[in-house]
Amino acid sequence: MTTEPRPAGTPVPSAPVYAKMAVIGCGLIGSSVIRAAQANGAVGEIWVADANPAHVARALEIGLATAGFTDPALAVEDADLVVFAVPVMAMGEAMAAAAAGLKAGATVTDVGSVKGAVADALAANAPADVFVIPGHPVAGTEQSGPDAGFATLFENRWTILTPQKRDDAPYAKALERLTDFWMRLGAKVELMDQAHHDLVLAVTSHLPHLIAYNIVGTAADLEEVTEGEVMKYSAGGFRDFTRIAASDPIMWRDVFLTNKDAVLEILGRFTEDLQALSRAIRWGEGDKLQALFTRTREIRLGIVAAGQESPEPNFGRDRKA
Ligand code: NAP
Repeated sequence: MTTEPRPAGTPVPSAPVYAKMAVIGCGLIGSSVIRAAQANGAVGEIWVADANPAHVARALEIGLATAGFTDPALAVEDADLVVFAVPVMAMGEAMAAAAAGLKAGATVTDVGSVKGAVADALAANAPADVFVIPGHPVAGTEQSGPDAGFATLFENRWTILTPQKRDDAPYAKALERLTDFWMRLGAKVELMDQAHHDLVLAVTSHLPHLIAYNIVGTAADLEEVTEGEVMKYSAGGFRDFTRIAASDPIMWRDVFLTNKDAVLEILGRFTEDLQALSRAIRWGEGDKLQALFTRTREIRLGIVAAGQESPEPNFGRDRKA
């Protein structure tokens, strides 16, 4: 199932989708969910929990919540929607810590970048009387923490929900409501099988990050040889890799450890294709290189046409500078 966002200019419904939301983990994504929910009237009251007391204090200081705790069980009291926005490998522990405070009938979701492992961790630690609906907003930046979030992060971006394999009416109703919530935040919503999500994201997100981490690491090792030229001439493509390679180290460590099988599968395919490219360069097979580069340029144009990227040269950054 796929849903499109509300067309521009359509009045925003006034009643909140949920009376009370608790967000566990108030970093980039958690604080963006809160800001988007506040901007669009998607929830009534908001409470937060974060393992980092400084992030709880900051969330309260900048008006992201009316109550904040380091103990998730306190933050989820009476919440209709609980959003886990902690690193992937902390999801199970955070869910276990919140479990005692959850009210029966609450919807529990998450924003983790990997779905199979997170869905298992949430299900294993959740009480039986809540609706667990794992999710992943496919939007983000390389920043972290409560000040990094912004209200428009999810606008016109996809949120993938990976529901459990159950088809009872109360669960279907909870899923419909969570879909409404994400659409209220401006997102397009797609339902997907958990394993399929992990394979797709291994291609579109996880492998590109691995390549960026690797190339920036290689260049840093070469820095001694090139005596500063890597940094000096970084605008030639390298700069874009450094932006991706600045992404949160804990978050990405967790992604690779928990989506190991899909990432290794895609990495194997990538390595074979790289070998083929290497051979084409060695034997001067320009037609092969040109054919690939023409196909990849068309893919880029397709992404721009789909509204998922700016068509401006250098992603519009030169104009902002
Ligand atoms: P973030 O900015 O680092 O925020 C995570 C927050 O959770 C931090 O405040 C962190 O505190 C806190 N935390 C860590 N362990 C915790 C625990 N056990 N209980 C409660 N709080 C805990 O990270 P983020 O980028 O928002 O990522 C959050 C989730 O969103 C991850 O699962 C990630 O895969 C997913 N995601 C990220 C992006 C992206 O582009 N960044 C996009 C889509 C989805 P400390 O900072 O002190 O550790």
